[in-house]
Amino acid sequence: MRNYLKHYINGEWVESTGSDVEEVINPATEEVIGKISIGTKEDLDKAVKAAREAFPSFSTMPKDERVKMLERIAEEYEKRKEDIIETITDELGSPLAVSEKVHYMMGYNHFSQAAESLKEFSFIEDMGGHTRVKESVGVSGLITPWNFPTNQTSTKIASAFAAGSPVILKPAEVTPFAAIILAEIFEAAGVPKGVFNLVNGKGDVIGDGISSHPDIDFVSFTGSGRVGKKIMQNASETIKNVALELGGKSPLVVLEDADIEQAARTAVNHIATNTGQVCSAATRILVPNSMKEAFEEAVLKVLPEFSVGNPREDNQVGPLISKKQWDTVQSYIEKGVEEGATLLSGGTGKPEGLDKGYYTKLTVFSDVTNDMTIAEEEIFGPVMSILTYEDLDDAIKISNDTEYGLAGYVVGEDKKALRKVATSIRAGRIKVNDAEADFAAPFGGFKQSGIGREWGDHGIEEYLETKTILGYPS
Ligand code: NAD
Repeated sequence: MRNYLKHYINGEWVESTGSDVEEVINPATEEVIGKISIGTKEDLDKAVKAAREAFPSFSTMPKDERVKMLERIAEEYEKRKEDIIETITDELGSPLAVSEKVHYMMGYNHFSQAAESLKEFSFIEDMGGHTRVKESVGVSGLITPWNFPTNQTSTKIASAFAAGSPVILKPAEVTPFAAIILAEIFEAAGVPKGVFNLVNGKGDVIGDGISSHPDIDFVSFTGSGRVGKKIMQNASETIKNVALELGGKSPLVVLEDADIEQAARTAVNHIATNTGQVCSAATRILVPNSMKEAFEEAVLKVLPEFSVGNPREDNQVGPLISKKQWDTVQSYIEKGVEEGATLLSGGTGKPEGLDKGYYTKLTVFSDVTNDMTIAEEEIFGPVMSILTYEDLDDAIKISNDTEYGLAGYVVGEDKKALRKVATSIRAGRIKVNDAEADFAAPFGGFKQSGIGREWGDHGIEEYLETKTILGYPS
């Protein structure tokens, strides 16, 4: 049992001012694995006060010291490797290998990348007629979702620390334990008191409190569009800047000359990774009319490579995060059938032999049109929609016919076609032929997928203000 009934405020673990606690469930077993305190607005005020007090010295801490601090964090993070992997598998239900290769590694990469980006970062530049200075934006409130417990928290915190901005973090209440380990890591790495504050609790109390707090200067939020809108509204009261990383409905365009089996594996991988609970997952797979049957066959051939089951055994796909998410995914599958898509594989209900845990089947729909609900809305589960296109212009049109713009994918050989699709999709991150991740590359969305960019030096910029000085004596 992990019982963490304290918040981390001003460099100390402190009792909550309220008495509410929340149980945390392991989605693979449906068992309670621990409890957290549900914070109050009073707890949040204490954290904001601590961050405010830390601001003058942290925002002026020399860059070299901040680089060293980030490097020490990366070292301490490595020491907690096993703990982080086990914790994420327990709270999120991701297979141990995914917890290691994806979740653990993403957190590590954000801290080490922030240290590297900071080394090269210029905070003061002579622009000829004026001097341009970058200064900390101030106290920053961070609100994160459950699907990548160390990725979203780490990228925000690493960038804020690089910029000299103290933070208050409110992680998702269903996956709070990875953030507790992060607090312990920062303590071990000697992060000055008040620079990192962790207040656990509910979105409508702590999250709402962060976005409307008069003493918080900036809010960085990752989560749903619904809550993102609320945060913008709240932040408008005090003209607070916001960064929003929201949902997606990303296309994968399969070109005519693509290796069909490889393309099918890429497509299945998108719905299998993290059980499809990935904001940037490709969930609309666009194949040329002429390739439809061959692609369907290839998908059916590849699917058995991905087994759904106990994340502590040798499976590639774990359960969904919660009963609520399970119900949502089932209703989208029902909707797909109702609206006339062809169910190629999977469907509603639990996979055979997996009665306990929020497991769902890898589900593939074909004959999907872009106006169907399953092609329009973010499902956040392992559901693939196969659509067909006439020619490249048609593929691009369908790709962009969405309110989202987080990511886009294209696979094939013809360089001209790859370039055309990559430059025409209106989205923040395009991947050509399963290219490797780059933690220095900006990440964020166009359209209703968000505002702002995280990762690398773009991430650091989020936590800075630009000041112009005219006549600065050099
Ligand atoms: P969510 O919006 O319900 O919750 C996210 C966070 O916001 C949680 O910490 C929650 O407690 C908090 N919250 C809830 N109500 C709030 C309120 N009124 N004010 C302030 N905070 C509040 O999202 P979720 O279900 O946890 O996560 C899934 C969503 O996140 C999906 O839409 C997904 O696409 C998106 N997401 C986006 C990215 C990205 O980088 N673009 C990454 C991961 C997830």
